[in-house]
Amino acid sequence: MSKAAAHDASCIFCKIIKGEIPSFKLLETAHAYSFLDIQPTAPGHTLIIPKYHGAKLTDIPDEYLADVLPMTKKLAKILDLDVAGQAGVGYNLLQNNGKIAHQEVPHVHFHLIPKRDEKSGLIVGWPAAETPDFEGLGKLHKELVAKLEAAGEQ
Ligand code: 5GP
Ligand code: ZN
Repeated sequence: MSKAAAHDASCIFCKIIKGEIPSFKLLETAHAYSFLDIQPTAPGHTLIIPKYHGAKLTDIPDEYLADVLPMTKKLAKILDLDVAGQAGVGYNLLQNNGKIAHQEVPHVHFHLIPKRDEKSGLIVGWPAAETPDFEGLGKLHKELVAKLEAAGEQ
């Protein structure tokens, strides 16, 4: 990984990582950083980011992603979102890639979004197929497995 690729001087989240603009920081490791979202959808809405500049998930080296989920687990506990036996409280993890997929800040970030009631937090549109199309799924599966094999991933 070249050092030059790790940061973008004009990126707001890179500036937050470097401390050039303030943030309500929660946890930090060598590879990841987390802080409160300034326009939360629910109290405790948190962002977890790799300390590497890249707009989309595939731009980020694996080592910078490795700390993200363990950090998210710690935050979910501290935010009291993962208390054993506590019904009626949950959370969503959201990571948008591309403007059409609702990404505004072009530095990969994972939203940890508390879900404590119907009105706050993530509200999801889910245009699911009404019934499974097994023929279509089978065809797609075959194509994808062939591509994975060609890429040496299977
Ligand atoms: P996206 O739509 O790109 O997935 O989400 C970007 C998120 O970053 C939004 O929830 C927005 O509130 C948050 N955000 C944008 N600028 C700042 C900032 O300067 N500081 C913090 N803490 N959050 C920001
Ligand atoms: Zn950045």
